[in-house]
Amino acid sequence: MVVGTAVGWREGLDAGDLSSESLVRASFERIRHLDDRLHAILATDEDRSLHLARKADARLRAGDRSPVLGLPIVIKDNLNWTGLPMSCGSRILESYRSPYDATVVERLLAAGAVPVAKANMDEFAMGSSGEYSAFGPTRNPWDTDRVPGGSSSGSVVAVSAGYAPLALGSDTGGSVRLPAAFCGVTALRPTYGVLSRYGLSAMASSLDQVGPIAGSAADIALALRAMTGLDPLDSTSTDLPGVERLVPLRPAPLKGLRIGVPTEYFGEGLEAGVRDLVEKAIQVLVDQGAEIREVSLPHTHYAIDTYYLLCTSEVSSNLSRFDGVRYGHRVEAGSLPGLIAETRDNGLGNEVKRRILLGAFCLSKGYYEAFYMKALKARTLVARDFDRAFESVDILATPVSPGIAFPFGARTDDPMAMYLADAFTVPTSLAGLPCLSMPAGFTAGMPVGIQLIGPAFSDVMLLETAHAFQSLTHHHVASPPLAAQE
Ligand code: GLN
Repeated sequence: MVVGTAVGWREGLDAGDLSSESLVRASFERIRHLDDRLHAILATDEDRSLHLARKADARLRAGDRSPVLGLPIVIKDNLNWTGLPMSCGSRILESYRSPYDATVVERLLAAGAVPVAKANMDEFAMGSSGEYSAFGPTRNPWDTDRVPGGSSSGSVVAVSAGYAPLALGSDTGGSVRLPAAFCGVTALRPTYGVLSRYGLSAMASSLDQVGPIAGSAADIALALRAMTGLDPLDSTSTDLPGVERLVPLRPAPLKGLRIGVPTEYFGEGLEAGVRDLVEKAIQVLVDQGAEIREVSLPHTHYAIDTYYLLCTSEVSSNLSRFDGVRYGHRVEAGSLPGLIAETRDNGLGNEVKRRILLGAFCLSKGYYEAFYMKALKARTLVARDFDRAFESVDILATPVSPGIAFPFGARTDDPMAMYLADAFTVPTSLAGLPCLSMPAGFTAGMPVGIQLIGPAFSDVMLLETAHAFQSLTHHHVASPPLAAQE
């Protein structure tokens, strides 16, 4: 099967050359063929997906043209889809089945998209490599000895390997952008509030966002169109200006676009191959009339510390609900405190425990002011850096990560080395800004990503700029050899 694009498949569906049922069957074929090697998928319900595909075909025959109608989509396993298991990659939720749909899933279903699978992920979205799922790691389709990046490892690999043209992930500190860069696909972290988190298992609520993943910015725009809009069930949700420009997405005019290049993202620690490709990608925009301005984001070096203090604090609070009493896994013990302690000790993995301990420490009496409050202040400084930069530029361009996908096991014994992979993705999370990761080329046979960052609520402009870049380049259409052969 030729791996298609969401926009291309939509045209085929509208013209009657394709059926949703045939696309969904093809998704399951590919999963059966490749997933023993990649382990991107945790659960499927083939009968249900085929039933939904036939319903989509009926809507297509009746002339319905909604943007995602009939398209297969893979859902990260921390988003609820009624009746399917939702494990969040953790033993503690192994037996949990979703009693309701997340708002984003509900909206996709209403628009006629067809979920085909729940995707593997780092446990409770804590991780940068895809190695921390309790159900085993996901592998990078470009080199199965390397990590795919995390935490939305399975969702990204599903798109990269052609299981589906669209996927949903979540991004707290980089979890759609980093794996997208490592696996050669495109992913958007929208402005905080643009997509409802109702039905997304909470990790760090002041940072969590749902993020669409696809082969291109134009494909992402289809999914975003179906999911945006105020949700009364998430009090942080808000409307996105300019949604009507998403479909069909048009390339942004590049002439006169002011691109800020932050010095702090191009310093020590950035691998030469990554730097080279990101600079070349920026040059493509400059050749079309964009202007480069060097800018400074001076508090960038506080971002990792700030993120890991705030994130762990919120994690320690959000994850207290997994106690063996209300849902999921339970280890019986002689007493209630014993039951809770045994269940959590047995049901949660080491990275999750590390963060709960760290977060509980940060929030405890005597340390709260020194760590949590200080981190809140540093967060404001990081956000103000961006405000200042956007006084003189329209967009920022940076690498997504200092390096390419690393081999399995390279960083699992060194949490600090693992956290450093997020150095360029956590600052925008702290500031709540929209940002996008897209392919910029290959070094050592592995994909490299470029990150575009915009001011709050410029999500549509960001996608239009990425679309302009992708209309001029071909990095995003490359398929991993393993997926292309089959
Ligand atoms: N890698 C980061 C972390 O482990 C980001 C995770 C995420 O965005 N969910 O916290």
